[in-house]
Amino acid sequence: MWQATVLTLYPDLFPGPLDASVLGRGAAESLWSLDTVNIRDYSDNKYGSVDDTPAGGGAGLVMRADILGQAIDSVSRNDRPIICLSPRGTPLTQAKAKSLAQGPGLVALCGRFEGIDERIFAARDIEEVSIGDFVLAGGEIAAMALIEACVRLIPGVLGSASSLGEESFEDGLLEYPQYTRPREFEGRAIPDVLLSGDHKKIAEWRDKERNEITRTRRPDLWERFQSDGPIRRSKNKDPN
Ligand code: SAH
Repeated sequence: MWQATVLTLYPDLFPGPLDASVLGRGAAESLWSLDTVNIRDYSDNKYGSVDDTPAGGGAGLVMRADILGQAIDSVSRNDRPIICLSPRGTPLTQAKAKSLAQGPGLVALCGRFEGIDERIFAARDIEEVSIGDFVLAGGEIAAMALIEACVRLIPGVLGSASSLGEESFEDGLLEYPQYTRPREFEGRAIPDVLLSGDHKKIAEWRDKERNEITRTRRPDLWERFQSDGPIRRSKNKDPN
């Protein structure tokens, strides 16, 4: 079973949204599981503090490596990578989520305050992952985003694997526009081609839309798509 362990100062935030909808059902069906470690339990003082002032001066507080080391050592890793959520990390991608989803799970370390004593990263072989170029107040929401991106890729968690095959980022492009009933909404109709029943035309229209949306909204992805070609053009809908 795919397992996520989250090290945090706020274990009460979990499972939170990770218990909703298909992820909650997946956990109930033992397709994956989540547990938390309260970093504060490894404090060495009666105040329960886990941080101290930055060496060299400056604002804020830094989480202590010795306390984090003990919290990490309390976890049975079982070959799982330890990932620290951090704005300095490698940007999270769908490819990364996919590769993590295929492994045994992950151990997520959530920072707070100014951040974390640098020495822990090498001492425990920790990888840093960012969920975007902005700064959150803590790693918890980032850990939830990472875990959710992975868990929905675990076979059986989403109802039908086919919904995975044509999504944004699957082959390096964003998704085409989707429509459903009613046929007309506030004077706006569903594009005729989608109601034509002509599958070839529909596929062509969708391809054209994805190209256009990617080119205008994400020139970075578009450029890579043009130079490298599709990341993966698979007609069968194998989610992995
Ligand atoms: N001083 C740090 C930011 C600390 S924010 C810096 O400038 O890099 C506090 C914590 O929030 C971080 O330790 C990290 O765990 C989390 N966090 C903030 N932004 C994040 C992001 N974009 N992705 C992942 N985690 C983030």
